[in-house]
Amino acid sequence: MSVTVVDHPLVLHKLALLRKADTSTAKFRQVAREISLLMAYEVLRELPMEMVTIQTPLESCEVPMLSGKKLCFVPILRAGNGILDGMLDLVPSARVGHIGLYRDPHTLVPVEYYLKLPDDIGERLVIMVDPMLATGHSAAAAVARIKQAGATQIRFVCLLAAPEGIAALTGEHPDIQIFTAAIDRQLDDHSYIRPGLGDAGDRLYGTK
Ligand code: URA
Repeated sequence: MSVTVVDHPLVLHKLALLRKADTSTAKFRQVAREISLLMAYEVLRELPMEMVTIQTPLESCEVPMLSGKKLCFVPILRAGNGILDGMLDLVPSARVGHIGLYRDPHTLVPVEYYLKLPDDIGERLVIMVDPMLATGHSAAAAVARIKQAGATQIRFVCLLAAPEGIAALTGEHPDIQIFTAAIDRQLDDHSYIRPGLGDAGDRLYGTK
């Protein structure tokens, strides 16, 4: 199990803006984009490099460049979409898959309602994104589905994680690397992260 808390001052400042109840929808969306770019920077820190000979205006030299590692971002709908664009700002050529799950109100089991992934997902480093790792049940179900589709290398990026969510996700998928900007105190009785930032989907899209 690996959990990385990305505690760069810019990340923490932007996270505080997201937490504030009086941050407007427009501002929330903009800051979510900015912070997700910074998270992607950290998540992709260990991408493989290769030495390439290039020509500067003055001479030729050997320099490290990305070795063509294939990436796929997979936002978990709908809030995951809110932290996708910042990552794509950084890696515009990455592929994007989508997964949508809802919780069956009777059985409480996550049910998949949408899945679209690149055919070659098994050859890609998959970065799953969801701003909130709360109970971890949907995240674990989404990771299971992506593995079933052939993915072998998966990282999970969120902005806020609850200890309960980390335990659930790593309990089911100990091979997953988790990146978060903070680990909050606990879940409340409604499975909201406390102190948290509220409902990330509603705050991104102004639906409440
Ligand atoms: N999902 C959210 O959007 N917020 C929480 O606090 C928990 C789950």
